[in-house]
Amino acid sequence: MIKIALDRLRNQTDAEFEFSGNREELGLQDLQFPVQDLHVYLHFMEADHGFYAVGDISGVALLDCHRCLTQFEYPLDISVSTMVILDQTDEFKDEDDLIQVAPGDRYINLTKLIKDAILLDLPVKLVCKEDCQGLCAQCGTNLNEGQCDCTDDSIDPRWAKLKEINFED
Ligand SMILES: [Zn+2]
Ligand SMILES: [Zn+2]
Repeated sequence: MIKIALDRLRNQTDAEFEFSGNREELGLQDLQFPVQDLHVYLHFMEADHGFYAVGDISGVALLDCHRCLTQFEYPLDISVSTMVILDQTDEFKDEDDLIQVAPGDRYINLTKLIKDAILLDLPVKLVCKEDCQGLCAQCGTNLNEGQCDCTDDSIDPRWAKLKEINFED
């Protein structure tokens, strides 16, 4: 869990925090892929009802290519910001892009903020490279590493007609 003890913010107008580690060390097990050398920096500044926090996340996510299933490294360099509300007020109760500290809590839990920022940063297409050739649908050969001997009779039926056309006529 990435958390900050409220005691450390008492009587502060300004404070900086850093966290480093991998997915397990930082309690980010909810992520479905490993992260390495994650570094989180956050700068807290006093604001109405609590603090405004800005910072950045860097590191490497180890993702699985959707086409060839090979793991690849995806560098993370993400800016984050959030409001941290310490007052017991209903004013913000429907907002979810801020952190509300419940009365009696002694920590600000930043785990969800960090996790959501990483998930939002991931590319829509999870591929190891733009021109990844993927796996042969028949034998599973990684076509980035070489061709296989499968005959291509699994051609899309919509294109099969084209094969029958004799272009020399
Ligand atoms: Zn790939
Ligand atoms: Zn094959």
